[in-house]
Amino acid sequence: MRDRDLHAQIHGIAAPWHVTDVRLDVPAGTVEVIVEHRGDACCPKCGKPCPGYDTRLRRWRQLDTCQLQTLLVADVLGVECEEHGVVQAATPWSEPGSRFTALFKRKVIDWLREAHFSAVARHLGDAVNTVRKAEHKRLRADGDRILVGTKHLWLESPASMRPERRSMLSQLKGICTRTGRAWALKELAAKLWDYVSPDWARRAWTAWAALASRSRLEPMVPAARMVRTHREPFRNAILFHLGGLHLYPRPASAHTVS
Ligand SMILES: [Zn+2]
Repeated sequence: MRDRDLHAQIHGIAAPWHVTDVRLDVPAGTVEVIVEHRGDACCPKCGKPCPGYDTRLRRWRQLDTCQLQTLLVADVLGVECEEHGVVQAATPWSEPGSRFTALFKRKVIDWLREAHFSAVARHLGDAVNTVRKAEHKRLRADGDRILVGTKHLWLESPASMRPERRSMLSQLKGICTRTGRAWALKELAAKLWDYVSPDWARRAWTAWAALASRSRLEPMVPAARMVRTHREPFRNAILFHLGGLHLYPRPASAHTVS
């Protein structure tokens, strides 16, 4: 397989678009995939074949290939439609006006989604640990060492816990009530990511924030405030986690003919 065919397959370039050249610059760590449109172009709005008006050289950041920063490069045709005037022909690998390919955007959304989820989990894990340390200090002052060596028990996911650890945890929750309540808030939050409706997820998080701020557990209060005051980023975190579907690039309308 020639490298042009290989790149056409990797980047999903299909007729009427063709890969005409692949420019590898190893020292710079980049590869440019040159793509060309063959045949008549169409108006992206109504799909009617139109005469070409001009061309504009454009570049799109694509997912890396073998750790080489990869760009798609193409002369995009401006077409003159009787009804819509001069418009740029559609490029099936990206949304109009975007400097990134649809694949690249999708990957970034996946990263963000994972980052939001881990950030909230880490924040709550730290809060539980702070509550545990304070409670341990108070108990130890009375000679009670029940919380010694339990740090990781409170941070583990119960789903993957061995039965003896789980029963140890459930006993400790009844005795060390402050750490137990902080743990319950953390676990409740973990379950809120399971919602599939953005509306219900938002309501559940609002209810969670109210519960956390009334918990009288100091380290939980900032987490509640984070959910309450950063409504917009948090809304995005929920939506990202739900798949961020509305944020994903729209499938390209392939109004080009060969
Ligand atoms: Zn048109």
